[in-house]
Amino acid sequence: MKGKLFIVSGPSGSGKSTVTKLVRDILNIPLAISVTTRQMRVGEVDGKDYYFITKEDFERKISNGELFEYANVHGNYYGTLNSEIEKHLENGKNVILEIDVQGGVIAKSKRSDSILVFFKAPNLEELEKRLRGRKTDSEEVIQKRLKNAIKELEYEKDYDVTIINNDIEDSCKQLIEIIEG
Ligand code: 5GP
Repeated sequence: MKGKLFIVSGPSGSGKSTVTKLVRDILNIPLAISVTTRQMRVGEVDGKDYYFITKEDFERKISNGELFEYANVHGNYYGTLNSEIEKHLENGKNVILEIDVQGGVIAKSKRSDSILVFFKAPNLEELEKRLRGRKTDSEEVIQKRLKNAIKELEYEKDYDVTIINNDIEDSCKQLIEIIEG
């Protein structure tokens, strides 16, 4: 039996990372590490949070066909390596990818049996509050992410299921239910 591929997407600040990480730990789901060209943030580790690579290396991976999907998000490339997901799916392990909405649509077109889960905050005011609360990004970045959030919300209709993240524990339960069917 092959594993199933779950895609989690939603605007920055929707809480998808926190919930995905908790569920991954609870269900012992392996992490597929993405490649990105964005700058490493304080506290991040290369090869753990992402593989941080140059634009030239990323473009080489695109031409070599190494990427299952990729997208330009907030001005940087992000992508999933085929090698990162195949090894787990072939071993019968489920995989959760936490990727942007463009990547989600590509993933579904390549693997129609993948399950797309859309995460969102209860409303835009709450989203802004959460983005500010993180204290990791500049005002310019926050404004860019809010603008992007409005565009990202248009993709909700392409997703199989939506989780409105009001409460971390409740959202974890919902995601576990989706994965365990
Ligand atoms: P951050 O810079 O905050 O780590 O991530 C920014 C955005 O990039 C998030 O929406 C995240 O889900 C998305 N992202 C992370 N990895 C990938 C990936 O491999 N592919 C795509 N398409 N998006 C990704």
